[in-house]
Amino acid sequence: MSEAVRIAETRERLAEERAALGTVALVPTMGALHEGHRSLIRLAHQYADDVVVSVFVNPLQFGPDEDFSRYPRTFDADVRACAEEGVRLVFAPSPEEMYTGNRQVTVSAGPMGDVLEGEFRPGHFDGVLTVVLKLFNLVRPQVAIFGQKDAQQLAMIRRMVADLDVPVRVVGAPTMREPDGLALSSRNRYLGPEDRRTGLYLSRALAEGRATAAQGPSAVRRAARRVLEEAAEARPPLRLDYLALVDPATFAEIGEDYAGEAVLAVAGKVGTTRLIDNMSVTFLPRTARG
Ligand code: AMP
Repeated sequence: MSEAVRIAETRERLAEERAALGTVALVPTMGALHEGHRSLIRLAHQYADDVVVSVFVNPLQFGPDEDFSRYPRTFDADVRACAEEGVRLVFAPSPEEMYTGNRQVTVSAGPMGDVLEGEFRPGHFDGVLTVVLKLFNLVRPQVAIFGQKDAQQLAMIRRMVADLDVPVRVVGAPTMREPDGLALSSRNRYLGPEDRRTGLYLSRALAEGRATAAQGPSAVRRAARRVLEEAAEARPPLRLDYLALVDPATFAEIGEDYAGEAVLAVAGKVGTTRLIDNMSVTFLPRTARG
């Protein structure tokens, strides 16, 4: 029998519990855990003696008109999922525990934090990086696991770790999907059956874009956009925020001569629910394309 999962809600309890652990792989989450989170936990076990999961809906990364207050909170089920996955410790602080009243220093994401997700969610990545750095300092993991599902977030965290010399190894994990292609997300539970059908256009657009990679970036953008035009006519419609084909390290749009792996990313709203998804697309050098 594996040991029961421990829960720390304060930094003092966390420090006590951390002292009993060996090397740690941290999986930061906002809870409402699904199979995608579980896949991160399974991967985490490969990198350290013990896995710590943080469950914290971070107010700093939500805009004033976003879904912070209605974000799903399913803590008891999350703890059960962690126990099933052999997690040693769940760190679940309150916002008051994480942020003292007179906070003033935060992490600035820089220019890469202002494009794509950052353009539609101003300040989002400053909030993400600030909480991730605090979690690193509190939990002191050797390794931290993040999903490719949030590709720009993963890229920003890699930049923070490199630029600020943070002594944590960052590992990316593949996106888990429903059998029909919909990327798993805590926000999927907001979707009714018709919303969900429209939501499927995101992964379809990405897959059709990716299928034309042999013809180069313009063809990929065209193929994906065609599907998204159809999605705009669906009932309910997909209201597109962006479709982008970018360099995974910089999140700048790639040109026609780009060779190597790129990220095709999409975001939009179905009703009041905002969905994001992305897939990697590999381009051969232009001279080698069909
Ligand atoms: P969240 O709870 O939404 O903040 O996500 C916590 C972590 O799980 C992040 O690193 C996400 O990228 C990752 N994640 C979310 N959805 C998926 C998915 N469908 N597959 C794999 N990882 C995911």
